[in-house]
Amino acid sequence: MILVYIESNNGQLKKASLEVLTYGKKLSDQTGTPLGAISLTETDNALVGEYGASKLFQASDARFNSFDSKAFTKAISEIFKANGGTVLILPFNQNGKALAPRLSVRLEAGLVNGANALIHTSNGFIVSKNVFSGKAVANYQIHTDIKIVSVASNSIPSEKSPTSCQVIPVTTTLTDADFTVKFIKNELVSGDIALSEADLVVSGGRGLKGPENWGMIEDCAKLLGAATACSRAVADVHWRPHHEHVGQTGLAISPNLYIAVGISGAIQHLAGVSSSKTIVVINTDADAPFFKAADYGIVGDAFEIMPKFNEALKKLKAS
Ligand SMILES: Cc1cc2nc3c(=O)[nH]c(=O)nc-3n(C[C@H](O)[C@H](O)[C@H](O)COP(=O)(O)OP(=O)(O)OC[C@H]3O[C@@H](n4cnc5c(N)ncnc54)[C@H](O)[C@@H]3O)c2cc1C
Repeated sequence: MILVYIESNNGQLKKASLEVLTYGKKLSDQTGTPLGAISLTETDNALVGEYGASKLFQASDARFNSFDSKAFTKAISEIFKANGGTVLILPFNQNGKALAPRLSVRLEAGLVNGANALIHTSNGFIVSKNVFSGKAVANYQIHTDIKIVSVASNSIPSEKSPTSCQVIPVTTTLTDADFTVKFIKNELVSGDIALSEADLVVSGGRGLKGPENWGMIEDCAKLLGAATACSRAVADVHWRPHHEHVGQTGLAISPNLYIAVGISGAIQHLAGVSSSKTIVVINTDADAPFFKAADYGIVGDAFEIMPKFNEALKKLKAS
């Protein structure tokens, strides 16, 4: 059975989970292998079926309400083994990145992390992913009996494929000693939206001239319900905190919309944002490298464009 590890926020399936369900369903259709899902927390059962899983292995243990990579690894591998898993698919998000290598060791499975294309099975089990900061694509063949693939966000659009889904309650052998992370408190470090999970991100670079000008970025983010981010150059000079810096040495994000204001688009910055679904670039320099990666670009001064853009958003929201 192909099993997909899914995650929810307050019972709502995360976007990345819908994507991995779709990814798993495509592999299931291609190979004729049934698709199931593993959820360690409360989830939207109906939606799991709508996205093609015929079985949902559902744990209900309050200890899974906070993430603990060691305990989650043990639980997922137990459920996977007990239900005849052959391929495990996870999202390549913060939790997926912590789980996949541990699961690979525990399940003695070959792993490809951050796949961004569907698996080819006509001649082996071939998984593709971007390498060298997106400059090249590498194809990997997994030879082990059990295979693990983590899927980069926005690699494929989520797609419904309704089927009836049997919910199967599962228990694990985990004891309190397996939970080594003590959850104290969940606190957003800035803004109202966590950057790592944000669907919309407004980001600023050195083109904004100084920290005193970030009001227009924050206003825009508030109006859109977006998280704020920045380039490393900005974090290095302490205009913004380092946890907001995205890129090769910062956070890698894949929102639906990434608005880059006054950012040149250096390769190290693009490495962390280029898998965003839609990229909008605002820059005075028409030759800024970011325009090559942009879906929409405005050549112009952020100090003129952003206030007008925010006014237009306000009007749109009021109408
Ligand atoms: C090993 C290594 C790792 C790195 N990792 C990262 C990383 O993870 N993330 C990252 O971001 N960087 C990283 N960098 C740094 C990266 O190379 C760039 O130096 C950095 O991204 C530049 O930031 P910036 O685009 O904000 O600034 P700049 O390069 O100074 O660009 C500012 C841009 O703003 C535009 N501009 C100026 N005025 C305006 C205006 N009024 N309105 C609109 N646009 C305007 C300019 O035309 C310019 O394109 C790394 C570098 C190295 C060597």
